[in-house]
Amino acid sequence: MAYWLDMDSFNGILKELSADNVVYAPVKMTGKGAFSGTDLVAYREISGVEQIEFKEKSRFSPKEIVFPITQTLLYFTEEEYAVPGTGEKGIIVFCRPCDVNAFKRLDEIFLRNGGRVDSYYRELREKVRFFVIECAESFDSCFCVSMGTNRADGYDVFIRAAGGGFLCDVRGDLATLFEKFGGPAEMSLRFIEENKTKVSIPESVDQSVFGHGIWREYASRCIACGRCTVSCPTCSCFTMQDIFYEDNPNRGERRRVWASCMIDGFTAMAGGHGFREDHGDRMRFKLMHKISDFRKRFGYNMCVGCGRCDDVCPEYISFARAINRVDALMKEAVENV
Ligand code: SF4
Ligand code: SF4
Repeated sequence: MAYWLDMDSFNGILKELSADNVVYAPVKMTGKGAFSGTDLVAYREISGVEQIEFKEKSRFSPKEIVFPITQTLLYFTEEEYAVPGTGEKGIIVFCRPCDVNAFKRLDEIFLRNGGRVDSYYRELREKVRFFVIECAESFDSCFCVSMGTNRADGYDVFIRAAGGGFLCDVRGDLATLFEKFGGPAEMSLRFIEENKTKVSIPESVDQSVFGHGIWREYASRCIACGRCTVSCPTCSCFTMQDIFYEDNPNRGERRRVWASCMIDGFTAMAGGHGFREDHGDRMRFKLMHKISDFRKRFGYNMCVGCGRCDDVCPEYISFARAINRVDALMKEAVENV
């Protein structure tokens, strides 16, 4: 069912939903961007639809809602431990189609990888409902069409912001609420069908690419800042930290904290050895994970083509171009056989 709502009506819905849900959406924060005089679009809790940034792409993804940057897994004393709860409320996430597809990738890693379930992730993820924001047009760095992630399913509401109001395709039990506040409407779903940036994914990547000079080129450029992985909606690596309280060192908490394969220390081992010190090797590892290794296990690519890694890299390294270069190398290798 489709409904038309003006801003006040939509806020009426959000007010009712907020009684049982925490609502997150991309929000523009003036002056908080990485560079002087720039803004930041990132996910925050909202109370009104006017807070949502519908036009710009968010720099960070909504993954931090189900996979927090820092998450306390348990509090411990000398004798016992306690696992913190996540509250009773559900979670509503306003996000774009590529990000809904990114959650599917996170689900594979946290819920189905190796037959183990990450209970911390599951507890938050089971609460999530998606309100998908329609992309009016593709951003320059997006390549979702190449990755097959331009369409989304599994949402509760699909929203088109237009003409000062909102056209919404509503599924499931929320239809009653939208009927109360909105008027009936016609809506045909629109998804991005072409991006300016296009990638060609190699069917397979063999060892012949591993020693190629392109990785040395990336080594000379990449400064190992990790921004590409922090902004990526599908990167899911973490490390563990035990915090001991100053007033009683026998008590504390165990936290998990985001980690990145691009930064120093990720492969640190006892004795000071690290097996992927070269920044180009890290780039190769990340690329292989996103377009080959994950696919070998789950049948589709990990990268959703959101283009955030290209947007944030201070060295202007393009991940999309790197995929195309590897594809060209593989085609060249096949021709030379
Ligand atoms: S690798 Fe880059 S384009 Fe792909 S999902 Fe991650 S941030 Fe988006
Ligand atoms: S954002 Fe760019 S410079 Fe920073 S780690 Fe990623 S590829 Fe390297």
